Amino acid sequence: MDAIVVGLGGMGSAAVSHLAARGHRVTGIDRFTPAHDRGSSHGRSRIIRQAYFEGAEYVPLLLRAYELWQELERDTGTSLLTITGGLMIGTPESETFAGSVASARAHGLPHEILDANEIRRRFPPFHVTPELVALYEPMAGFVDPERSILAHLRHAARLGAELRFEEPLLSWEASPAGVRVTTTRATYEAERLILATGPWAPQVLSDLGLPLTIERQILFWFDPIGGVAPFHQDRFPIYIWELEDGLQFYGFPAQDGPPGGVKVAFFYHGEPCTPETIDRNVAPSEVDQMRSVIAGRIPALNGPLLDAVTCMYTSTPDHDFILGLHPEHDNVVLASPCSGHGYKFASVIGEILADLAIEGTTRHAIGAFGLGRFTTPFI
Ligand SMILES: Cc1cc2nc3c(=O)[nH]c(=O)nc-3n(C[C@H](O)[C@H](O)[C@H](O)COP(=O)(O)OP(=O)(O)OC[C@H]3O[C@@H](n4cnc5c(N)ncnc54)[C@H](O)[C@@H]3O)c2cc1C
Repeated sequence: MDAIVVGLGGMGSAAVSHLAARGHRVTGIDRFTPAHDRGSSHGRSRIIRQAYFEGAEYVPLLLRAYELWQELERDTGTSLLTITGGLMIGTPESETFAGSVASARAHGLPHEILDANEIRRRFPPFHVTPELVALYEPMAGFVDPERSILAHLRHAARLGAELRFEEPLLSWEASPAGVRVTTTRATYEAERLILATGPWAPQVLSDLGLPLTIERQILFWFDPIGGVAPFHQDRFPIYIWELEDGLQFYGFPAQDGPPGGVKVAFFYHGEPCTPETIDRNVAPSEVDQMRSVIAGRIPALNGPLLDAVTCMYTSTPDHDFILGLHPEHDNVVLASPCSGHGYKFASVIGEILADLAIEGTTRHAIGAFGLGRFTTPFI
């Protein structure tokens, strides 16, 4: 079998790696030179966790994602995954807390329930008020997106994948006989095609009229007041904190290397955009908005701003992924595992995309991610 993968970001880089590892001929194509900061997979850290408040059905995929990240670390001799533990903070009724507890219980995942006093005792930077609780899970942490894209691509290249950068896709066509892809430089033919174009998916798949929203997001790095020591990876976990109005913000421990400091961001809450129209500048009012949330809750984090960069979510209305065969071409596989929470799954999504390209099916439970949930009324 031979395949073409268009888009070598988080998902496409994993797909070329899995296809090459299974001995298939694969050509990967990207409009830029990955790992780059023009799409959805940059900013040095992505939360990974198991007690998934978004739905217990994600947990088996997560467990496999951990195994595959560790396998990639071994295969490439690179450190990609940092386990720090994670806190899911909210009121007892909040989706963040209650949903995480439900997932942990459904799958017997190790976890602890902490009240506000215990949170403050164990993690002093968090100034939680008495009505707040948290689920603590020891296996949470973060994946480095740029390093893991490069690890997947290097692994794929070593196994014979042909990778082409700075080569935008112009058009593609599929028939039962195979697929043909035309870029700015050449035309390629293969048996199968995987389209993993991230926030460019609405353009590449415009015929399908998928209800995807591209959302501008901002990542902030602050230099903590009093230094980074209380935010060190040994003692400060990743966290998601749900506010009274349902808005969530999240963050990471300190990471070595540029831009330094400690990263924090809002989950969703961005403006609609496109990869062409996104405003890459971050306004002072946007920094103030982030500060207004952290000032009373993680006061030591509210120091000088070191950096602020934009990134894009590609979101479905139900915030579940799109992952499956093209409704009209069963030799074309579509992947938009985003809605702001896809990166942690990239390793297992590579395995699933390879399964779908090779066999047209997968042993993994991806029924909830089919395109049929959006396209059926229109066909
Ligand atoms: C600010 C932010 C924070 C996030 N935090 C988390 C988190 O903590 N945990 C988590 O699990 N997930 C998180 N996510 C979501 C996660 O990062 C995304 O789900 C993931 O990066 C999507 O990967 P992708 O491969 O679909 O897209 P991308 O990585 O953007 O890859 C798409 C690729 O396709 C290429 N491409 C597009 N069009 C063409 C074309 N015409 N021709 C050739 N190539 C093309 C692009 O150049 C790009 O390289 C976050 C996302 C953002 C933006």
